[in-house]
Formats: sequence, C-alpha cells, structure tokens
Amino acid sequence: MIYLDNNATTEPLPSVRTEIIEYLSGKWGNPSSAHAFGLQAKVGLDRARSAVARLVGAEPETVIFTGSATEAINTGMLSALRSRPAKRRIVTAATEHSAVIAMGRAQEAAGYELFLVPPLATGQIDPSRLAQAINDETAVVSIMWANNETGVINAIPEIAALCRQRGVLFHCDAVQAAGKVPIDLQALPVDYLSLSAHKIHGPKGVGALIVAPGAPFSPLLYGGHQEKDRRGGTENMPAIAGFAQAAILAATELPQRTAHVAALRDRLEARILAEVPGTVVNGQGAPRLPNTANIGFSGVDSDTLVSLLDQRGVCVSSGSACLADAVAPSHVILAMTGSYQKASEAIRFSLSPLNTAMEIDQAVIAVADAVRSLR
Ligand code: PLP
Repeated sequence: MIYLDNNATTEPLPSVRTEIIEYLSGKWGNPSSAHAFGLQAKVGLDRARSAVARLVGAEPETVIFTGSATEAINTGMLSALRSRPAKRRIVTAATEHSAVIAMGRAQEAAGYELFLVPPLATGQIDPSRLAQAINDETAVVSIMWANNETGVINAIPEIAALCRQRGVLFHCDAVQAAGKVPIDLQALPVDYLSLSAHKIHGPKGVGALIVAPGAPFSPLLYGGHQEKDRRGGTENMPAIAGFAQAAILAATELPQRTAHVAALRDRLEARILAEVPGTVVNGQGAPRLPNTANIGFSGVDSDTLVSLLDQRGVCVSSGSACLADAVAPSHVILAMTGSYQKASEAIRFSLSPLNTAMEIDQAVIAVADAVRSLR
C-alpha cells in the first residue's frame, strides 16, 4: 500500500503507540484522584499540556484537551458567540472545513447570519475581501491556517491583526498547519486555535483548543472540574499522552520533515504534470503546505480515479462529500474555480515523512496508467 492520504489521517508513530499503551496498561489512574496513582496520571497530563502548547508557541494553561478538533472548533466559536449575544454575524470562508461551515449553518436556525467569504482563484482568502465582510454585527471570524484539500496557506498574521483591529474575535482552524509549518501564538492575536492529534501521527479522538488569555470562554460540555472547569469528563489519558508525544516529535523534527515531504511533493507534481496530459495544480501560485498536492485531471471523474488507484494500492482522496443520496464535488475547488467540472476532477495527494521517493515514482506510474484507462 502506498498511503498518500495523510491529510485525512496519519499513521501513529511507534513511540506514540508506546505512550498510549503506557497509559492503558500501567499509568491508567484518573488524573483527578487524590492518591499517588492518580498523581502519576496528573503529571502526564501536565507534561502533555506543555508539549502541545510548545508546538504552537502557547502557554500550557491556555490548552484545553477535547475529543476532536471538531469539538475544539465548536467550543471556540460558541464561546465567541455567547460572549457577544447582540452580534449576530459569523464570518468565515467558503473553503473552510465542514466542522466550521456546518457549525455556522447550525447557528442560522438560532438567528445568526453566516457569511462565507469567497476565495481568490489561488484558494487564498484575501484579507481585504475579509475586511469588507466584517461589519458591526460580526461576533466572530473563523479562517483556517491551511486548507485540508489544497494545502493553501492563509495570511493568518494579517487576518488576526485585522480582526483585533476591528474588535471581532478570531478563531483559527490550524489542524492541517500544525506540525507542518511553524506556528508561534506568542506573536499573534489569535483568540482561539484548534488542533487535532491524528493529523500529526497521533491517535484519533483527541484534539485541543487554545484559548488566548483574556478571550471569552464558556464550556461546551458541563460536568466535573476537569480542564479547570473548561471541559467536563475524565481526560482520555492514553490519547492525550499519544498526542503529546506526536507534538514533541512534530516540533523537534519540523525542519527535516518539511524538507523531506516538500522534495517528494515537488517530485510528484512535476512528474504528473509532465507525464499526464491535461493536468493542473489547484492552488498553484499561493503559499502551500509542503506535503499537499491537489491536481485536476481534465475529463476524469475524481471518485472513479480514487477507486482505480485504490485497486492499484495507492490511497488518495477526492474532496467530494456525501450529501443525502448524492455525491457533491469538492466545495473547496468549486469555490476556487466556480466550476463543478473542475471540482469533480480534483485529486488530493497528501504526503507524510514516512513516504519514500520510490513510493512517489510508483504512484506516478499508477496515476498515469489509471488516467489513460479512463480517457
Ligand atoms: N479541520 C480541518 C482542516 C481538518 O482537516 C479536519 C479533519 O478532517 C478537522 C478540522 C476535523 O478534525 P477532527 O477529525 O479531529 O474532528
């Protein structure tokens, strides 16, 4: 199997698995317990908080562990909305992940207006378009650091400064950016930042919300006093410890990982563009994550290509989503190009440091073969 779908999820690294098992088999105490066995887990929890904080340049006490990035996103955005009940506008982008867009849509029933800023043709959100979308009614702005389908990176420092200047709260979905590009919250006015462990070679079912000092907060889950009353429920210690180990590795290996995956991604793109006619890189011209290539194959249905590649042992994805009984093409490529055709021809290749040049070369041969058979 050649796994090129790392923006969907990543393989938990061996030392991550070791950490998880340690908290399942030995250190399985409850971090809230008053005895030494519980304290052992509490020490692990505190260490994990510091490790995740360090990955994004935050203070440990600003980190709240959640059950997913989706939960972090919902918690952050709802905190913002609840703190400004008179303001009824949510501003985000048409290219955001469904965790943000669906959350915003759900608020429409409660009387909110959801405004989706259209991207530039490169996929980036133009800060001046965003500035026009923010009005006096706006409670919160949510813009992702990097897009999961194209890898396109937004101008977060500029966007965060704009939101601060206009007096609106700012949430940033950094799920795909963390561990792939440097993030330093010390230097940025980001009120809420969401992370997920399983995109950085950690386990699934654990994420984090970073809440800047002074940003309003209200819990999504009420319960016990865990996470300083910010998220009820006994902490998922095996997952949190695995997340921490993944974060430590991501932070320390970031330059090497970037160099490795960027070289492979560039090789993949260059070879596909040269060897397969009728191909285009979506997001070309914008700054992009080093591991992501989103390629349009003219005249080829992306879902059919995904299954043909699967038969050849190559795992990739299309951006399509299942809506009711129909398959909808990628909303991201649709927003960028305005074309349903182009949105249904896009394939995402997302690499990890575990990939090799040989895998890339084999994948290119499989892609060229599969596309030839479909045209
Ligand atoms: N945001 C982005 C950009 C993502 O890629 C994902 C995962 O697909 C999420 C949010 C949701 O993360 P989780 O699976 O932890 O809920």
